Amino acid sequence: MSAAETPASSNFIRHIITKDISDNKHNGNVITRFPPEPNGYLHIGHAKSICLNFGMAAEFKGSCNLRFDDTNPEKESIEFMQAIEQDVQWLGFNWSNKHHASDYFEQLYDYAVELIKQGNAYVDSLSAEQIRQYRGTLTEPGKESPDRSRTIEENLALFSAMRQGEFDDGQYVLRAKIDMASPNINMRDPALYRIRRVHHQRTADQWCIYPMYDFTHCISDAIEGITHSLCTLEFEAHRPLYEWVLDKLQTPAQPQQIEFSRLQLEYTVVSKRKLAQLVNENHVNGWDDPRMPTIAGLRRAGYTSASIRDFCERIGITKKDSWIEMGVLENCIREDLNENAPRAMAVLHPLRIVIENYPDAQEEILEVSNHPQKPELGTRKIPFSKVILIEQDDFAQTPPPKFKRLIEGGEVRLRSSYVIKCNEIIKNDAGNIIELRCTYDPDTLGKKPEGRKVKGVIHWVSEQHALDAEIRLYDRLFNVANPESENNFLDVVNPDSLQTLNHCKVEASLANSEAGNLFQFERIGYFCVDSKDSSAEKLVFNRTVTLRDTWS
Ligand code: ATP
Ligand code: MG
Repeated sequence: MSAAETPASSNFIRHIITKDISDNKHNGNVITRFPPEPNGYLHIGHAKSICLNFGMAAEFKGSCNLRFDDTNPEKESIEFMQAIEQDVQWLGFNWSNKHHASDYFEQLYDYAVELIKQGNAYVDSLSAEQIRQYRGTLTEPGKESPDRSRTIEENLALFSAMRQGEFDDGQYVLRAKIDMASPNINMRDPALYRIRRVHHQRTADQWCIYPMYDFTHCISDAIEGITHSLCTLEFEAHRPLYEWVLDKLQTPAQPQQIEFSRLQLEYTVVSKRKLAQLVNENHVNGWDDPRMPTIAGLRRAGYTSASIRDFCERIGITKKDSWIEMGVLENCIREDLNENAPRAMAVLHPLRIVIENYPDAQEEILEVSNHPQKPELGTRKIPFSKVILIEQDDFAQTPPPKFKRLIEGGEVRLRSSYVIKCNEIIKNDAGNIIELRCTYDPDTLGKKPEGRKVKGVIHWVSEQHALDAEIRLYDRLFNVANPESENNFLDVVNPDSLQTLNHCKVEASLANSEAGNLFQFERIGYFCVDSKDSSAEKLVFNRTVTLRDTWS
């Protein structure tokens, strides 16, 4: 889907909920949850789920919980939990309750015992490899484990011994007793619990058995009274299991699972596992590297939360898998910043201009508006003086056709300032242009020059007033639209995704800018003060997005 053909956002889930309310299903309540596993930072795909879950709850005056799905302790951490909370809040959402699946470990255990007592679960001694062999294939039914006929008493004793730590990891699993011939492989006696001696970030070493996702999720939903359990399409084939568990157990509520398509975004990857690999193998500088599609990375790059919410609205909610062009996301921030970012001037590759007819010691303070269409954004003061800096490529010794900027003997307007004329080119011994000698027309401040047309306008800064800055130009992290279709997605990382410019100059008014402040650098793009590395001594700016979509 391209930026141009973004549909008016559709959302079939809204229709389902509207109907459920009118049918008084779930007593007319709408309670949703956002259930991240704390094994990484949230990414733009999660933003889609967050906007949907919190958005539906808000729209229907319901509530939405944040639930950490923390049942895989090896890869989970408190750092990730804190980052997730920060990102959800930054996106503009407040949870009604914060829960952890681990809060339910005791209840989950009791529910498992209940299934055993009903004869609906058994302890199996097959190895992981044997279980795989017994499972069958899409075309062949599975084979029943010899342990399937264990008595309830034996199962209860074994399950209790599993919990007590009497067995080695992997020696036994608890399995649901459903149907080894089911056409749905998820229903062929799925595992409910496994033995794993791993320290858990919240329950420490209290447990050596951990419940599986499919068992945990539906019961957690039911305990919290979730009405609409919204998840991504890969769980569609797990829905019968979700319903089977809740059907067998006397849970406090009967949530319904509804699936929608995952966000797939071109030129990036949205999988915590792959993002973790990029971080751990130093392809990027941490989870909040501005090239990362994480919420933290987008924030550091200069994306506003409003632009991300806008993006989630534009892409809509459907059941159809589709790829979204990166341009759709970029357009959201570009439109936001075009509207709201104050303008400023920065020179990335400075070229010195000496204005020969400007008095040596003179300086003028020009009052310049911060936004051409928005007087309410106020004005700022820009100093003008004898020596200014312009962009190297705004001058051409041998200009290409239609070049409207500065040429030898030609005139150009300095943005918000005077018209200057280039009289002489100064080169160093190596033959490189190091300076231009110019004159200015004192009669052109805020006025058209008399008797001639000057077409070009270029940006500039006053040399003695300008501030040093490092400017980081970020580009797409991958060279191909779908890195995940490669054998190894790391092979297609874009080696030029970060270009650091160390000798940039920015206008003096930016001295007071703060981490996260956003600007349009005139004629260059949108930039954000880096939240980690920028300081009063050396400002650091990240390019958020170019002025125009240069990719399509
Ligand atoms: P990942 O593979 O990146 O770890 P996940 O689905 O395993 O993704 P979870 O932390 O389990 O990540 O996800 C929390 C919620 O966010 C789930 O409901 C999940 O369906 C949803 N979600 C994750 N990725 C996407 C995506 N790309 N688009 C929409 N929703 C997503
Ligand atoms: Mg997951």
